[in-house]
Amino acid sequence: MLDDDPYRYCPLCGAGLEEFHDGERARKRCPACGWVRYRNPTVGVALILLTEQGLWLGRRRSGGWCIPCGHVEWDESLEQAARREALEELGVVVSLESVFNVSSNFHDPEQHTVGVWYLARAEGLDQARPGGDLVELRPFPLDALPELVFPTDRVVVDRLRRSAGRPPGAD
Ligand SMILES: [Zn+2]
Repeated sequence: MLDDDPYRYCPLCGAGLEEFHDGERARKRCPACGWVRYRNPTVGVALILLTEQGLWLGRRRSGGWCIPCGHVEWDESLEQAARREALEELGVVVSLESVFNVSSNFHDPEQHTVGVWYLARAEGLDQARPGGDLVELRPFPLDALPELVFPTDRVVVDRLRRSAGRPPGAD
């Protein structure tokens, strides 16, 4: 698990990191200043916007469709991040209804994340404009979605299909 960690040097003082075992697992630490490398996932938020036209998806600059999403910045709450991403990636103001799904994402070996998918509503989605990581934005009927680039989005979509027509959270 340490082999794929790109950290080789202490980010505080530049000394070469050494491996040690803290009693629970192997980690890296700096022999000079004692800094310990804790490798943790970051947090992401995603916006489920389901209208009469379907589920709004974004096509990414790097290719493929996804539920609009982004990382939570250091000084943001989950909700602030979700609203900011809506403004950046769709150009709309959203109101957050509820958390629909929370899941670990392991598809990017460089950066594991924990994703929080919000059910959200927005006025004026027809005027939505793609921004941020997105180059295209449109709704798809739940039974006619394109291939989704993130594996956990596929899990969320399966859940959405099963709960379609029922109130949010009514599992
Ligand atoms: Zn150091």
